[in-house]
Amino acid sequence: MEDNKKNETKELAEKLLMDQASSARKACVQEIEKAMDFAEGYKDFITAAKTERETVDWTVTAAQAAGFVEFDPEKKYSAGDKVYYNNRGKAMCLAVIGEKGASKGVRIAAAHIDSPRIDLKPIPLYESSELALLKTHYYGGIKKYQWTAIPLSMHGKVVRKDGSEVVINVGEKEGDPQFCITDILPHLGKDQMGKKLGEAFTGEDLNVLVGSLPISAEGEQLYKLNIMKILNDQYGIVESDLISAELEFVPAFPAADIGFDRSMVGAYGHDDRVCAYPALEALFDCGVPERTAITVLADKEEIGSVGNTGLASEYMNYFVSDMARAEGLEPQHVWSMSSCLSADVTAAMDPTYASAYEAGNSTYFNRGVGIAKYTGSRGKGGSNDASAEFLGWVRKLLDDAGVLWQIGELGKVDQGGGGTVAYDVARLNADVIDIGVPVLSMHSPFEVISKIDLFSAYQAFKAYFEA
Ligand code: MN
Ligand code: MN
Repeated sequence: MEDNKKNETKELAEKLLMDQASSARKACVQEIEKAMDFAEGYKDFITAAKTERETVDWTVTAAQAAGFVEFDPEKKYSAGDKVYYNNRGKAMCLAVIGEKGASKGVRIAAAHIDSPRIDLKPIPLYESSELALLKTHYYGGIKKYQWTAIPLSMHGKVVRKDGSEVVINVGEKEGDPQFCITDILPHLGKDQMGKKLGEAFTGEDLNVLVGSLPISAEGEQLYKLNIMKILNDQYGIVESDLISAELEFVPAFPAADIGFDRSMVGAYGHDDRVCAYPALEALFDCGVPERTAITVLADKEEIGSVGNTGLASEYMNYFVSDMARAEGLEPQHVWSMSSCLSADVTAAMDPTYASAYEAGNSTYFNRGVGIAKYTGSRGKGGSNDASAEFLGWVRKLLDDAGVLWQIGELGKVDQGGGGTVAYDVARLNADVIDIGVPVLSMHSPFEVISKIDLFSAYQAFKAYFEA
């Protein structure tokens, strides 16, 4: 009698209650080998593409190899055609034309390819105490202390006075010099250690060390001049050329497996290239979809999606509108039938800082791609807040395709918050939901993700395009 009752309760619990952790463990065991394989390609990508420009360059090469050609708004396309639009070398739209074209709306996966980093000021080079340094202005939300005393590399582009351009990447190749931002030794750190963490490091402290040799024994500005001479020899630039430049300092280390079990990847810039990569691979692998499938790579998300390469710009709208008109459709009608997976990372539960999370509504490593119905802060402010109907559709889609997924929020209510590109797309009257890979140490120089979650993001985007 007792046993019967126990079994009944167990059956009822299985039928009525959720157990995300145990179903995730089952899927995890099944998928781990495929996930390990998939992560190898990702590690190469994330090590090679550390800035928005480098990600676009990598993507153009990969897309062309996969049969994509540059989009021509004047041209008529048919099912299976593959096109891309490169917006100023810093953002992209890529599409595979569907059987029904855009007539039933399009399917978009949108990820951003900019990450927090250290940018140069327009007049950066100076010398002080017989050292040559660069003044910087950080980009995006960083904890400044994390960017001191680590090896940095310099990436970007300089436009010379005569209009010619030079692309720079130094600190990544074997044998390259690297750079760093110094920190005070603990022995002399009394004043710094007495300050609050957020005040102990100021933006003006983030100066990059680039030299310590004078160009000669006599004269003025010998240390600065020595560096400028080297830059001139290597890149043909003078000091004033640094005004028309975008030079970015990022961590110089490559991606690495994390853990004895190699189940995770540590790298700079998972946010958000860990979503961009599976969104691209899923598009490359989706065959000929029913509805036109589009992967969007956006710039400037980390500073509010501003500027003409950010998703608050109309470039994605223009791309879809051009396709709609070529098919004799009104863009607004296409948009109203369209949907978008706003592919951006979520904050994974960190047991060391568990008090910032609400355990029942957080995303966890190895439970699969993480859905966020809403993001934002202080009462969902600045969020998209997907509808129950669209979330219901996505959930069924992922379940039917056997994709491991989970749902969670970014930390406790009123603990902080964050935004994504979701509302920039929702503005066009498309259905949008946030979905992405959970990350540990987000926005730090060395972020961590799980290979299972990365692979399930790929499966999710592929299922979405193919549905
Ligand atoms: Mn992000
Ligand atoms: Mn971010």
